[in-house]
Amino acid sequence: MNARVRLACLAADAAHWGVTRLLHRGGGNVPGTVALRLDPGIVGPLSEGIDPIVVVTGTNGKTTTTGLAADALAADGRAVVCNRAGNNMESGIAAALVGGRHAGAGSGGRRAGCFECDELYTVRVLPRMRPRALVLLNLFRDQLDRYGEIDHTQDVIAEALRRSPETALVFNADDPLCAGIADRVDNPLVPFGIDEPTNLEADRISDSRFCARCNAPLDYAYVHYGQLGSYRCPECGWERPRLAIAAVNVCLTCGGFEFDVEDRRGEKDGAPVVRHHVRTRYNGLYMVYNVMAALAADLVAGGDVDRFQGVLDAYEPASGRGKTFSLDGRRQVTSNLAKNPTGFNRMVQQARAENARCLALFLNDNDADGHDVSWIWDIDLERLSDVSDLRFVCVGGTRREDMAVRVKYAELGAPIVLVDDIEDALGYLPADERLHVIANYTAFPPVVADLERLAESWRAPGAARELPAAVTPRAEGAVALSRPLRIVHLYPDALNLYGDGGNIASLSKRCAWRGIPCRVDQVLMGQELDLSDADVVLLGGGADRDQLAVCHELQGQRDKLAAYVADGGALLAICGGYQLLGHYYMMGEQRVEGLHVLDVETTAGPTRLIGNVAVDSTVCDAPIVGFENHAGRTVLGAEKPLGRALVSGTGNNGGDGGEGVLHDGVIGTYLHGPILPKNPGVTDWLIARALRRRGADADLAPLDDALERAAHDVALRIATHR
Ligand code: GLN
Repeated sequence: MNARVRLACLAADAAHWGVTRLLHRGGGNVPGTVALRLDPGIVGPLSEGIDPIVVVTGTNGKTTTTGLAADALAADGRAVVCNRAGNNMESGIAAALVGGRHAGAGSGGRRAGCFECDELYTVRVLPRMRPRALVLLNLFRDQLDRYGEIDHTQDVIAEALRRSPETALVFNADDPLCAGIADRVDNPLVPFGIDEPTNLEADRISDSRFCARCNAPLDYAYVHYGQLGSYRCPECGWERPRLAIAAVNVCLTCGGFEFDVEDRRGEKDGAPVVRHHVRTRYNGLYMVYNVMAALAADLVAGGDVDRFQGVLDAYEPASGRGKTFSLDGRRQVTSNLAKNPTGFNRMVQQARAENARCLALFLNDNDADGHDVSWIWDIDLERLSDVSDLRFVCVGGTRREDMAVRVKYAELGAPIVLVDDIEDALGYLPADERLHVIANYTAFPPVVADLERLAESWRAPGAARELPAAVTPRAEGAVALSRPLRIVHLYPDALNLYGDGGNIASLSKRCAWRGIPCRVDQVLMGQELDLSDADVVLLGGGADRDQLAVCHELQGQRDKLAAYVADGGALLAICGGYQLLGHYYMMGEQRVEGLHVLDVETTAGPTRLIGNVAVDSTVCDAPIVGFENHAGRTVLGAEKPLGRALVSGTGNNGGDGGEGVLHDGVIGTYLHGPILPKNPGVTDWLIARALRRRGADADLAPLDDALERAAHDVALRIATHR
């Protein structure tokens, strides 16, 4: 260790001492930040002599997989250096290395490392650390306001691997987004996956299901959830790589999942397949992946896998995840963490399987959560409607009003209660019931801390607090139409980036609540488009690569869309969909041909325009609020903007103050949120327009929009004050 490294370590030790002893906080990132300040390359020298090292990355499951893999590596007597608490940026990893630099002295100096690493930091960590393996778990949309589009995350991880060419990539081959990275690098590859259909929990919305090579939509033999499954490209034949480590005989017992993991790595050299039976206490399919990934890491790192089952049995999930607290002997609370739609959907499935009658959902929008909460509209909350006798749904956190609106549009028929914290929610919990809590990133630790405190001291009030009535937002009257309003959702399988399903929910529910008959038709990629009796059309947002796929699809349909618009049809086009209606979208050298329906042109800029926006518009009285996240800069030709960007937002291009387009019945906008649930005035503008075009009475009955207004006002406050 040279003098600089030594000095950086001593400074980090001092910082650690200061933070833990004087400020009584966990060490966290601070010591690592100090060390990196003094020696930006410190991860390299501190990793020397640690072998094997496994780095774990991916959207969901990092902390669990890292903890399990670390325990497995430690099982045969090695000292394992690990950032267990989940500080997964370079500073967190540096802090763990500084803290663990003397470890292993008692075990013959054998040291192993297992580190969880944020996806975007892999490119800093891998080249310095040169780990034996990088475990890539999955890539789902998460904190899009930080990561940008998933393509960018893929680029970063691929670059990290290129700069550490000996590192084996142990990757989830069921995820085409992970396999797409494997396809681009020359590192040794170890694909893992579930090699049979599970038929358990496919999601409504998934991330990109397009071919990594030619961008055609993939065909799936089966889907596990999200975009995970067995896929093949019908155009070019690219398919899920052959699994080297495969879960088979996956079966859900009353104790949890059991399965066999087949190690097929030696198969091509004629070595026999080795089978390991695994029993878990978990009943979420995502845990099959996490456990398999940890076992794969153990295999690749040369651990003693015979001890794996014992390690798994002894494993305690980190910091209150999936933990059940007992209060006053008669009430229980289970706390779960979910940070993104895929994770949340797993928890919803769990709640449903357990017939969770009392729910509390906490949603924060702090820096670490992402400021954009549109993702809650990608959660399949509607699935909770088969919980029998759902009693209430409490909503808390800095964006509880948004969550309340989300729950309202799921129409679960139970009261929605806004609460300040978990203790507030407990007031509604009757004796002999269990409260199921799902909280996102920064909302979760305070919930767990409160529960730990309350488990000691909480006394039930005499009787549970009285619940408000369930929301039934129906208006008087009905509208007679010769046929229902036809809402057409174009390509939800490709353009669905920011909770666009929420826009459909807003349109269809607000019709239904007023007795306006309506139906929603989805037109999927490859399906025939018929707009002849369409009344409202929605085109959602999408990542660049999704847009490219849709662009090819749409070219043949241009005339139908142009005729619909010329006839005054109502159309809402968000972000990527908005860009596609114009002349073109230039992504660097690549031109995505537009439909030339709107006189606008878009060019991707060097940065993404991200943040809360509020716009004054003639479409409705209140300013329209939402969130923008786009690289494209759109310039209007002979078009009028939807509105003037009021405060923080950049809108169309950040230059002329305009946001979106208003062209006859067409609203094009960069605002998602999604836009309609929080701006019911915009929804009603579209519905009224559609009714008028049908010659029907367009005087819409008022609805009780108290929750929508509250969510709107929170968003407006944030847009104008942050
Ligand atoms: N991919 C486009 C862009 O980055 C559109 C993004 C979006 O739909 N929000 O500009």
